[in-house]
Amino acid sequence: MTIPVLFGFGKGAKQLGEGFVHLCDNCNNANRFIVAEVSRKASVYFVPIAKWSREYVYVCPICSYGFKIPSRELAQRVLAAAFRDPTTIPDDLAARLAEAISQADGK
Ligand SMILES: [Zn+2]
Repeated sequence: MTIPVLFGFGKGAKQLGEGFVHLCDNCNNANRFIVAEVSRKASVYFVPIAKWSREYVYVCPICSYGFKIPSRELAQRVLAAAFRDPTTIPDDLAARLAEAISQADGK
């Protein structure tokens, strides 16, 4: 499994919670990955007028290596399932995360 996209936690990234325990391909630490929401805002004279391109990412807490989660619903399911048991990824979620990774690979 390769995780090709590197995300920094810049402005607009909000940590939503912890996901499952993964062995990071980049830094080789086993940790609970972080689910975060990233949004960019439009501002006029520093007053935010709009929020758009909200995205969800799933990243290593050590090195911020990770990939995009394609939907809010999937991000929330990862958080809910990992809250119950962070060491066991249900098969359907594992399949959807693998799909998200392969989509990121295709770029
Ligand atoms: Zn890492």
